[in-house]
Amino acid sequence: MNVKILRNILEANDQIADRIRGRLTAKGVRAINLISAPGSGKTSLLERSIAALKHDYRIAVLEGDIATTRDADRIEKLGVPVVQLLTGGACHLEAPLVERGLNELDLDALDLLFIENVGNIACPAEFDLGETVKVGILSVTEGHDKPAKYPLLFHEIGALVLNKIDLVPYVNFDYEQFLSDFRKLNAKAPVFQLSCVSGAGTRDWTHWLEHVAHGEIVVPAHAHSHADLVDIVQPHAHPHKKGVVATVPAGGTAVPPGTAATTARELV
Ligand code: MG
Repeated sequence: MNVKILRNILEANDQIADRIRGRLTAKGVRAINLISAPGSGKTSLLERSIAALKHDYRIAVLEGDIATTRDADRIEKLGVPVVQLLTGGACHLEAPLVERGLNELDLDALDLLFIENVGNIACPAEFDLGETVKVGILSVTEGHDKPAKYPLLFHEIGALVLNKIDLVPYVNFDYEQFLSDFRKLNAKAPVFQLSCVSGAGTRDWTHWLEHVAHGEIVVPAHAHSHADLVDIVQPHAHPHKKGVVATVPAGGTAVPPGTAATTARELV
């Protein structure tokens, strides 16, 4: 029964994800769904990437979080459009909330859309958001065993960023074991070793992003057709709360959740 419920949720999600993909494709917008554990460096990577690309590409960000507009406030300082998506408790983004965020953006004025998922390396991998490609971020402080322990994400992604390489001397990260486990799940995705703090290695990563922006890299979601991997993902009951869209006006401060302005933007 649990499996059937999960399947129904995924089917409803995937219909909206297909609609999102159609809208983005029609406008020539490429979308990158960034997935990692909390603290791996999603927002720091965004700050580096946007600073490197914003003069050549039109960029916007959908910021997924359970609570606060802190990440959107950071992105807003870079002068690109940003919409904070607050899940209100859910551990991942789903297509309906992303579609509402999309409605807040001018797709005619965009080349690249970053979707920063909620910090989590299990649940977000289950949900197609209509993105062009999923990107995983793993920091060396999290350990080399994560691909083996969270296979679905590492199977789904079109690129992997290995972050915090400046901390390698201080942690026991076995790169060979990590790469061996990762390649069993994903033969093609490039691995970008970098440090968002020092900037080392970020050029190769931003060069890859340019290929995505030019439509040269498309990695469709395919998890649901891989029965072997779906079998080892334990379906569970997500909160599936309604979620809140909080906007950050250009040059202004983010509207915190719970205020009248935010409540007015809640869609039923
Ligand atoms: Mg973040």
